[in-house]
Amino acid sequence: MPLPKINTDGLKSFIPAEKIESLLEKTTSPDKERVREIIAKSLSKQRLEPEEMAVLINTTDPDLVEEIKQGARDLKTNVYGNRIVLFAPLYIGNDCVNDCTYCGFRKSNTETLRKTLTMDELGAEIEALEDRGHKRLILVYGEHPKYDAQFIHDTVEKAYSVRKGNGEIRRVNINAAPLDEDGYRLVKEAGIGTYQVFMETYHEPTYKAVHPTGLKSDYLWRLHGLDRAFRAGIDDIGIGALLGLYDWKFEVMGLLYHTIHFEETFGVGPHTISFPRIEPALGSDLTKHIPYEVSDEDFSRLVAILRLAVPYTGLILTCRESVRIRNEVIAFGVSQIDAGSDIGVGAYATSDPESAKKSQFVLADGRSLDQVIGELADAGYVPSFCTACYRAGRTGEHFMEFAIPGFVKRYCTPNAILTLLEFLHDYSSPETKIKILRQIESELKAMPEGEAKDSLLKKIDAVNNGERDLYY
Ligand code: SAM
Ligand code: SF4
Repeated sequence: MPLPKINTDGLKSFIPAEKIESLLEKTTSPDKERVREIIAKSLSKQRLEPEEMAVLINTTDPDLVEEIKQGARDLKTNVYGNRIVLFAPLYIGNDCVNDCTYCGFRKSNTETLRKTLTMDELGAEIEALEDRGHKRLILVYGEHPKYDAQFIHDTVEKAYSVRKGNGEIRRVNINAAPLDEDGYRLVKEAGIGTYQVFMETYHEPTYKAVHPTGLKSDYLWRLHGLDRAFRAGIDDIGIGALLGLYDWKFEVMGLLYHTIHFEETFGVGPHTISFPRIEPALGSDLTKHIPYEVSDEDFSRLVAILRLAVPYTGLILTCRESVRIRNEVIAFGVSQIDAGSDIGVGAYATSDPESAKKSQFVLADGRSLDQVIGELADAGYVPSFCTACYRAGRTGEHFMEFAIPGFVKRYCTPNAILTLLEFLHDYSSPETKIKILRQIESELKAMPEGEAKDSLLKKIDAVNNGERDLYY
């Protein structure tokens, strides 16, 4: 199977490195009024400019930092409400032609056991995930000629085709190498949700140092990777930076410039932004001595800053982070988290004693999906498996939630309740059931009486009587 042909002729970087550095230098010691003005701009639902983000990044006064965090909490509460969408990652194969120094899958790592799921093994993984109650997946692949667009397409089709009991996968997102336009077109045909490609680091010299060989070593091919997706008709894309390779302040500015590039070129920003911190990876020295380690305090600050800077975008947080950090930053407007994740290839269906040797890195949050749902419900959130927008052809749901008044009340909250109720009936433990019921009751209580509530109550009755997959 051929590797994609890389052609970067005529491409230029849209990350203005010198300008980022000068903005970060010019905005040190910002005054209180300016910081408050910027928070207010974000709360009035406007995306921030790079200079404004730099001001927030340079704010270190503890009281003002708290105001930034409170701004992020307010934005989340006012715009998105208390839902948290849940998903699971599913690793399809860990063969890789690249040598990313931070990753357990890199080519030169002889400690990794290489494994690609067969279609039957993939079917078993999907069944195991459905048995736990998952409805939304992200399929993850190394970069290898085996994992070409046709293969990705076929694995997505397989994921949608497997049904067990009331279980089904209703949305499949992708995290894989960037493709060429034809490749993206083929993958789109399988009905994907979001296509994610993380830039890892926007700082070109660092990028080159940590990606010494392989297809991924070309900065411009990767930087323009999702432009090709847009041109191929995929407008639901996710960007990300791997924190710890270079200064986080530069990276979050890079994420903002990437967002602005999409807005200016294609008229819409990214659907989601991810900001994983580097975790220990098998045989990776870099992960033992992380070059620009991000402290917990800086991490929570940067999540709040990203929330304010790009208020219309979904923010994704993964089980790489500890329960304590997850609980703290969820309140700043994280919209999606994974739960009950296992990142060994084939790990959901089998209890493989060598799973760690097939994993990309080590996870910090090992709670089950049932446990996470119970704890979220206890903390006043509504865990959601909603996939309604994607399936009703309403693309860019985070943007609609943000931009259309009443959208969350009309669609998101009722859909979250209906999917949570399905989980309660089909998969939840007795303890979690009690917590879910309490949360649903409190949501219903807070809803004004009227047609919308009557309609939801009818659908709730239908789910209680065994109907599934009802949504607005
Ligand atoms: N192979 C494809 C690629 O590199 O784009 C897609 C999948 S890769 C397995 C998914 C992401 O995992 C990478 O983009 C990177 O950000 C992240 N990753 C790699 N090593 C990591 C580590 N040690 N800790 C945390 N995240 C890591
Ligand atoms: Fe391969 Fe992706 Fe890991 Fe790099 S990050 S070594 S491309 S799997």
